[in-house]
Amino acid sequence: MAPIRKAVSRVMRSLVMKFTLLTGALIFATTLMLMTLESISAQRETRNLLIDRSVASLQTTASRLANAVSENNNGFVDLYVEELIASLGAQEMYVLNNRREVLGEAYDDDREQGRLRAADMAVMALGAGDLRYSVHDGFLEMAAPVYTAERRLVGVVYAKRELVELVASRNAAIQRQTLIALFALGIFLPLAALIVGRALKPVQTLTDAARLASSKNLDMRINVKTGDELEVLANAFNRMFARLDGNLKRIHRLAYVDLVTELPNRERFRKETERVARKALEEGTSGAVLFLDLDRFKRVNDSLGIGEGDRLLEMVGRRLSEVARGCDMASASGEEPSMVARLGGDEFTVLLPQIADSADAARIANKLVDAIRMPFEISGHHVFLGVSIGVAVFPQDGADPETLMRHADLAMAHAKRAGGSAAQFFEPTMNQSAFERLVLENELRDAVQQDQLVVYYQPKVLMKDGTCAGAEALVRWQHPTAGLLSPGAFIEAAEECGLIGEIGDWVLRAACREAASWRARGLEIPVAVNVSAMQFEREGFSDSVLDALQAADLPPHLLELELTESIAMENPERVIEQVQPLRDRGVSFAIDDFGTGHSSLSYLTRMPFDVFKIDQSFVRDMATDPHARIVVETILAMAKSLKLETVAEGVETAEQMNMLRLQGATLAQGFLFGRPMPGADLVEFATDSSADRAVNE
Ligand code: C2E
Ligand code: MG
Ligand code: MG
Repeated sequence: MAPIRKAVSRVMRSLVMKFTLLTGALIFATTLMLMTLESISAQRETRNLLIDRSVASLQTTASRLANAVSENNNGFVDLYVEELIASLGAQEMYVLNNRREVLGEAYDDDREQGRLRAADMAVMALGAGDLRYSVHDGFLEMAAPVYTAERRLVGVVYAKRELVELVASRNAAIQRQTLIALFALGIFLPLAALIVGRALKPVQTLTDAARLASSKNLDMRINVKTGDELEVLANAFNRMFARLDGNLKRIHRLAYVDLVTELPNRERFRKETERVARKALEEGTSGAVLFLDLDRFKRVNDSLGIGEGDRLLEMVGRRLSEVARGCDMASASGEEPSMVARLGGDEFTVLLPQIADSADAARIANKLVDAIRMPFEISGHHVFLGVSIGVAVFPQDGADPETLMRHADLAMAHAKRAGGSAAQFFEPTMNQSAFERLVLENELRDAVQQDQLVVYYQPKVLMKDGTCAGAEALVRWQHPTAGLLSPGAFIEAAEECGLIGEIGDWVLRAACREAASWRARGLEIPVAVNVSAMQFEREGFSDSVLDALQAADLPPHLLELELTESIAMENPERVIEQVQPLRDRGVSFAIDDFGTGHSSLSYLTRMPFDVFKIDQSFVRDMATDPHARIVVETILAMAKSLKLETVAEGVETAEQMNMLRLQGATLAQGFLFGRPMPGADLVEFATDSSADRAVNE
């Protein structure tokens, strides 16, 4: 019922209906007015005719009664009048002689006779001897003088009659007019509706278009060719729609598209994940959110420059999309395609709306890892990247986009920490470790502020005589509750939360001060300080080193800086740029944990380093693993031919020491000689002869 009422009310309110009703009313009113005018003139004619006729028949009566009146023949006159009143249609009629005596009277009702009072009109007609008549209140009053044949005035005939014919004809006219007007309405109204409907068609078209546009369908053109204002209006509408459409598309692009890669952006990805995850929950299916973070992108980007970096991201996006599309086509189950989005920086996400099981997601994630491992060609160079991927499967790892992305991100961080270029599934324990990491980061911030960091020094000894030839500064954290923590427990966290720069700087200054204090006691022991990638890449790194030396008043030749192999490999130009000015002043450089990276030896030897620190894993395995022994031998032989110094790290046993000595190692560091110790203890170590004992055993 309601829809019908609604439709009717819409029709009633429509312009066509309003115009039709207005036209109908005009037709009706005009017809009625014309008819009324016509009937007024017809009425007037009828009235005149009626008067003429009545007056004529009264005059005839007057002439017929002339003899009887002149003779005062009461009987005849009375009889005559009595008979005539009906045929004349009068209500009142009487005859007077010239002495105003009543000769005959008649009434159409039962009025009593003999009480007549002559009307003024009758008296006047008698007095003047001429015909009188007047009409008032629908009554015709007339008085005709009675003349004899000799033109002698003998009396007067008076009659009063109601003009009933007029009233009847007026009523009939009204009825007729109404009928005609209605008839005209019946004929012209549909015609008017047709014409109005046709005339207002463009307005309807415009209205429909506006309604469509309001429901966001702006992709249309109104076709109105009336040549009038409506066509102008329609054209204006079209221009407005086109502009709105363009603007909306631009807004949509800005809101949902990543402009560097043309991929969906974070917001679009979030919305799509929300929809897909809800659907999966309803239908009992599974899907996955993959969080991707490129390995080494920052460094590559720094060396490429912003423009080329963006191009590289675009290529990465394209490659990821290709892999995802390939997987979509291969899987028959997923009718919904996957979505690749860029969140910003070097972070991408992939939504797999439907997977059969986690192995499905793993397979796709591995394909993505492999695809990114292939070199990218940019400005004639081959650029190598990697990608760490975290996978969160829904619904079990979360049902809303925020949780899913957070969990996938956590898993990604694990993959990255494990060395990158791999995929890792989210596990609920990661939430706990992420929380612990957060606590750790906050505590570490306090640690730096509250001087909870201390530096220990591990001696490096000369193989030939066991004398202390240097010391490596190794940071420790005197945690208020957990005790003394080694760097393995917090360096990674410090790197991730950006505190490593501050910590590294602090260690560098403390180590320089310590070495200067040894020097003041007459011990020239060079101190080696570890430098992390982030610290090394910071703007003004070399200045901060020179600052530390100056502040401690330590000669540069007593400072050695240890860089890892990966730092040296990833950005060789930057290394040379940073290292050279310091080396020129006498600071020496060591490659730490040498042999663990995959870099080519010959390449590394061309870099500006003075010392190779052979990684402790080779030293440890040397006695049991021939491969490890060969690596150590090769490094030592190569260093010798290049006249570079070597330090064998992690020497724990005399056997290891003897093997190293036989192979020509010059320096060693390890628990066999001394564990990392407070600076004051190192002074003791350097002056003590127990070191000699270990070497000479
Ligand atoms: P690293 O530079 O290779 O330092 C040598 C590590 O091996 C030290 O661990 C040391 O205690 C340990 N070590 C020495 N001799 C032996 C041995 O005979 N056997 C065994 N098993 N281990 C031995 P530590 O102090 O825990 O430091 C670990 C790593 O943390 C260092 O490796 C270095 O990469 C990093 N690190 C330490 N201090 C700093 C620092 O101030 N800044 C930065 N960026 N990294 C630091
Ligand atoms: Mg080191
Ligand atoms: Mg090392």
